[in-house]
This record gives sequence, structure tokens and C-alpha cells, in this order.
Amino acid sequence: MSVPGRYGGGPEQSALVPPVLHASTYIVDTAQELADLLDGTRAGYSYARIDNPTADAFAAGVAALEDPVLQSAVAQAFASGMAAISTTLLALLEPGDHVVAPASCYGGTYQLLRGTLARFGIETTFADQTDSAAVAAAVTDRTRIVWAESFANPTMLMADLRELAAVARSAGALLAVDSTFASPAIQRPLEWGADLVLHSATKYLGGHSDATGGVVVGQPALLRRIRAARVELGPVLAPDEAYLLHRGLATLDVRVARQCESAATLAAALDGHPALERVDHPSLPKHPSHEVALRQCDPGRYGAVLTLSPLGGRAAGMAFCDALQTIPQATSLGGTHTTASHAASSSHRQFDDAALEAAGLLPAGVRLSVGLEDPALLLADLTRALDTLA
Ligand code: PLP
Repeated sequence: MSVPGRYGGGPEQSALVPPVLHASTYIVDTAQELADLLDGTRAGYSYARIDNPTADAFAAGVAALEDPVLQSAVAQAFASGMAAISTTLLALLEPGDHVVAPASCYGGTYQLLRGTLARFGIETTFADQTDSAAVAAAVTDRTRIVWAESFANPTMLMADLRELAAVARSAGALLAVDSTFASPAIQRPLEWGADLVLHSATKYLGGHSDATGGVVVGQPALLRRIRAARVELGPVLAPDEAYLLHRGLATLDVRVARQCESAATLAAALDGHPALERVDHPSLPKHPSHEVALRQCDPGRYGAVLTLSPLGGRAAGMAFCDALQTIPQATSLGGTHTTASHAASSSHRQFDDAALEAAGLLPAGVRLSVGLEDPALLLADLTRALDTLA
């Protein structure tokens, strides 16, 4: 029995959206052609771990959004945000190198830096990324990467990227920004001097909580090194996921605009609630990053995550989550559905109390990722749950 094995190739018309090619391998006409494809001296596809057209279409879409004016950036897509982060760090660092990372960084990145990378002789100093002088003081003559997360998860603290780019440049290091919480619909770090922008595409870029992926954007010379490490390590973005993530890009701007507006509405309505110790959202003038966000974000877009910290510590935060009736508790963020999670026992479970304090996160903090629902209905559930804590 034999099933024919040649499909497509050279359509006369262009499709409006990318095809999903599941093929793990591509037919060549000559042995030399395959050798050239694998050497990279000839453009085209050979093997799906190396490149696949749907993942390339997604990566190119993100590069266009992150670098809309100069259009000189390129991107590589990955199987997850952590795959993008770990591959980038492994591509650019070697034993003895040093990283300065935010004290407030995402738990997975924190663990990678303190665990696996430390095991391979790469040292990290965690510093307050909103204090550029503190970041500068943490730099050593071995610093190769200054890492930032803008916005920080989940305090929404925002680094001044122009200042951090200057700190990195004067140390001969690169500024890499995990921009998952902002997305290019709010802030484009390359415009502020960053060398690399990374995303968990699982969040806003995909936007529907139905696909996992990651992406790194920057200039071609750096991306060549990152691509080589990706090919070696193998965390390729699968075609079906790439298709869904690419589709998310088309609605990113309208989704994020609406989500930011609803988040600001909820922050203003809940600020001062007697059961809350703190509301973290940069739309509030008292938020420590309000001024930076005014400068660095597109007008009126202060992010779509807010953190609500009830009085009463860790137990109160968990009880608040459990009292929600219509807002589901779930990890992850950036989707069309609003979700809540108790940060200290989920995204930041790797942080002890001292690390939480250094990150500016109260043990009670509940992260709310605001979706596309009617904000009045969200507010009703939140206030009802807060009232149960009194
Ligand atoms: N960066 C940030 C800021 C995140 O919040 C996450 C996940 O929550 C990641 C990276 C990791 O992304 P992924 O879960 O797609 O590997």
C-alpha cells in the first residue's frame, strides 16, 4: 500500500492567512539542494524542527508589530515562553557570565536563573528594575545581559527602558525585555533601546487561552545565534499552535485596548475598598510606575492586569479567590476570559517571604487578568467576594 507523497508547492494565488503545514520533512529534487538547505545557504524548508512556514509567519507578524517603523527586526518562534527565554539565555551566555534580573521577575524565569543557569556557572543578581541606579550598581564586568519585565508580574511595576538600555550599553551588555504583560499593543521596547523583546505568546499575542508559544524579536545578527540554539535544543513551535497564535495577532490591538480600559475602570472602582490593603494598577496616579507608564505606554493603555491585595495576608488572598463566583481561578493571563490567581501560591510560589517583599508583592496579592466581559459584571463579583472577607 502506498499513499502519494507530494502536495502543494508554488500556489499561483496568495492566501490571506498562512497555511498550516504539518509536514515534518520536505521533498528536494537533488542531494545538493538538501545539503544547501541544511547548511542554510539556500532559502526554503527541509525539516520541521529547523523551520516551519506557519511558525515563520507568526514570528514575522510579531516582528512587524514590535518594530513597525524601522521594520528591521526579525523574530524566532518557540514552543512556549519559557522555551524562548531559556534558549535565548543559553544562546547568549557562557559559564562565568553574569545577568542582572528584576527582583520582581516571573517565577519560571527566576527559577531558571537561580537553578539551571546557576548550575552551569552563570550568576544572577536580582535588583529593583524600577530603580535604574540599583540596576547599574548590580552590573559587574561579567554582566552580559540586563533583563527586564515590563510590566512586572503581577505588580505592574514598569522599568524605564531608556535608562536601562543606557545602563546595559555602558556595561557592554544587552537589554532583553520580557514584554509579555504589555504586548506591542501597549509598548514596544525596541523603540526605547532594548536589544531583544521576548513574549510568552500564550498570553496576549494568542489571546484566547488555547495555544502555547513564545517568541523573541531583535536584529538579525543576534537572532541568528538564538535560532542556531533553537535548532540545537529543539523547542520548535508546532504548526497548529502557530496558526492560532498568528490569528490572535489580528485582534491584538482591539482586545488589549478594551482589556486595558476595563482594568482601569476596575482599579478606580476598587481602590479604597475597606477590605483591600492595596490595588496595583499603573492607571492609578499613586502607583509607583504611573509616570513611567504615561511616557512609555500608548495613550490610555496601562495594562490589563491588576493586583488586589486584601487585608489579612496570605490566607485572606486565598479566601478572596475562593469567594469569587463568576470569575474563574486559573493560572496564566491575557485571554478573553477574566481569571484570578493568588500570586504567592501560583506564579510566585518559588518566592519566599523575603523574595516576595523584594518583588514588591504582598503575600495576599491576587492577580486579576481582565478579559473582555462587561466590567460591571466583573465588579459585582469582585465586590461581593471582598465583602465576604469583612
Ligand atoms: N514570562 C512571563 C512574564 C510570564 O508570565 C510567563 C508565564 O506565565 C512566561 C514568561 C512563561 O511563558 P510560558 O508559560 O508560555 O512558557
